[in-house]
Amino acid sequence: MTSVHELITTAATREAERAAPERSARGSRRPIALRATGVSSCDSGLARDPWAIDQDPGYGPGASVEDRAPRTSPRQGPLPESYTRASEAELEARIIAAKAELGDRVAILGHFYQRDEVVRHADFVGDSFMLAQAAKQHPEAEAFVFCGVHFMAETADILSGEDQAVILPNLAAGCSMADMATIDQVEECWRQLTDTLGTEPDTDGRQPVIPVTYMNSSAAIKAFCGRNGGIVCTSSNARTVLEWAFVRGQRVVFFPDQHLGRNTAKAMGITEDEMPLWRPHLPLGGNTVEQLEHAQVILWNGFCSVHKRFTVAQIEQARAEYPGVRVIVHPECPAAVVEAADANGSTEVIRRAIEEASPGDVIAIGTEINLVNRLADEHPDLTIFCLDPVVCPCSTMYRIHPAYLAWTLESLLAGETPNRITVDPAVADASRVALERMLAARP
Ligand code: SF4
Repeated sequence: MTSVHELITTAATREAERAAPERSARGSRRPIALRATGVSSCDSGLARDPWAIDQDPGYGPGASVEDRAPRTSPRQGPLPESYTRASEAELEARIIAAKAELGDRVAILGHFYQRDEVVRHADFVGDSFMLAQAAKQHPEAEAFVFCGVHFMAETADILSGEDQAVILPNLAAGCSMADMATIDQVEECWRQLTDTLGTEPDTDGRQPVIPVTYMNSSAAIKAFCGRNGGIVCTSSNARTVLEWAFVRGQRVVFFPDQHLGRNTAKAMGITEDEMPLWRPHLPLGGNTVEQLEHAQVILWNGFCSVHKRFTVAQIEQARAEYPGVRVIVHPECPAAVVEAADANGSTEVIRRAIEEASPGDVIAIGTEINLVNRLADEHPDLTIFCLDPVVCPCSTMYRIHPAYLAWTLESLLAGETPNRITVDPAVADASRVALERMLAARP
């Protein structure tokens, strides 16, 4: 099986070869995009080692390259050369040796979207909430090495024990979607909403607005929801959570993923004109008072740069190439893509659909390429492919290169705890309130 890392490296090599004559004619400029036939990647920079870009203020190459990281986003310090110069085989051997020596003291958590060279060392593989729960269920571990992104490590810290350390091997592994809603923007939005819609419940006791945040948000926003009668949701339970919220509120403000919010609300029969978009830089989010009063779900203007890449044209192309193909996409994809697909659902829904498929079935998937590749590997009797013909992993997740994992594990062996993610206790307490409401919510 070809890993995403190998696909990207191959694409970069092909593009470099293809561009060589052109480059010699115009100096040494690096090609911006890979357009090689067969294998192509969304950004040739992905083939570089992450430490080359970790000091940059943006997210680096890949799907989220256009997004802006908040100024407060953590930056990763330089790695010692003994890691950056090590071969893949050497890093692999060092990770295996350090992990064996650490034993049960340390558990490695690997997100579904993580690269193969890292996830193969994980003790637990899952989505962000499954991994946070794994942390909660293993009180014997002194430390969790979270091979995901920043908000996931925060959630694991909130749910794990006080004495347990949660470590993000590369601090530059943020999530562009989570960063699209800062706590200052959310508080300002709330101030404007409560000024406009009031704070008094209606005759049924329902509040004017209930804040709901997707798991993919900072701990500060989860805590905000906990403090203001709100709740957290995952892509698996978003509908149940919205139903919970409508029992308690006249409308919902949904952070930060507009697509998950819109797709879930549409499936509940809520119409587009009842779902205004909140643009945080505009007064009233760019809406009129009437639009907000009429709203059922106010959608924050955030999105996932990986899932935004999927298009209806890709689905049409897949259907033309493979008549009978079943198309399944993640609900972080735009609504038109979700509507054109045969099914949509969380990573777990996608995995289950594949488990239930019959030998010979052809399935096109609209989600992150590392997961799709792995599913294809696990099911050789099926034809599984990513809808997007261009290789474009979650670029921030991709920053957890094996060199960072080796450095983290060897630092732990040396008695150090690098890159510990610690959520302020007051924020953690309020976040837990919102998370517990989610766990208690029933369809
Ligand atoms: S896939 Fe999208 S939502 Fe998930 S971590 Fe990457 S950027 Fe964030």
